[in-house]
Amino acid sequence: MPRQRKTISRQDLLDRFAAINVWRRGDVRAPHKPLLLLFALARLSRGEGREVRYSDVHGKLGGLLTEFGPVRKSVHPEYPFWRLQHDGLWVVRDAEQMASRKGKDDPKPSELKRVNPAAGLTADVDAKLRSDPTLLAEVVGLILEAHFPSNLHEDILTELGMQLDQVVSRRRPRDPAFRERVLRAYERRCAVCGFDVRLGNLTLALEAAHIKWHQAGGPDIEPNGLALCSLHHKLLDRGAFTLSAEKRVLVSQDVCGSDGLDEVLLRWHGREIRRPQSAEFEAGLEFVRWHEEQVFKTPAREF
Ligand SMILES: [Zn+2]
Repeated sequence: MPRQRKTISRQDLLDRFAAINVWRRGDVRAPHKPLLLLFALARLSRGEGREVRYSDVHGKLGGLLTEFGPVRKSVHPEYPFWRLQHDGLWVVRDAEQMASRKGKDDPKPSELKRVNPAAGLTADVDAKLRSDPTLLAEVVGLILEAHFPSNLHEDILTELGMQLDQVVSRRRPRDPAFRERVLRAYERRCAVCGFDVRLGNLTLALEAAHIKWHQAGGPDIEPNGLALCSLHHKLLDRGAFTLSAEKRVLVSQDVCGSDGLDEVLLRWHGREIRRPQSAEFEAGLEFVRWHEEQVFKTPAREF
């Protein structure tokens, strides 16, 4: 008798990815599970095997966490490698062979390094995604949309060796008035550089940035918005700069580059951003603090 393989429906699979339990302590970003899933999905898209050894995940995932996660003293690629098992999407082979930490259900990083177990997406999820490239593209889009602002999607995919056209984007409807209200509050100029190119009545390359990401629950209100040219919007979302409590531009020490950098960013370091036309629209301190702690690549340069 042929072995029966468990199958999963398209909707069940999408629901499982949508429901991953992302650990949030207050407002702390934890992109570990989403990044591990994207790493596994990128392998799958290249036709690589279902399982991968911990040693092959550790360095790459650590790099992704450093690049796209909040700045921390140390990154922990071992957390999602183990804990994603609770979300019905991931299995660690021979998991029972590893001694768990006292009072916790996961093993020490040293134990993972010693045993170097193989792990991968569950067999039902893996088989379903391999048989349906459209579904795979949809799942990648779903994870990106749920955890990262769209400005970062292409950078993350590039790091993973995937392309944007391999992804189906399903943007959730946003408050359509947010962009308009924020651009009006800043009189249709970039709050950092003053960029205000228009073509007829159309404002070009000027965007309404969320200071606290929409994905982290940042509201669609003026104090959480900044009118920024597309370049400064991207640099804000990547954490290249943030704002001080006095609304001065603070540039990260991590930023480096040649002549162009001075022109687009360093010359604004320490300067106050343009004020919105009404004090009630000014950037809210709670949102600015969130950005500094969760997105900005600390430390800031000195004045
Ligand atoms: Zn600008």
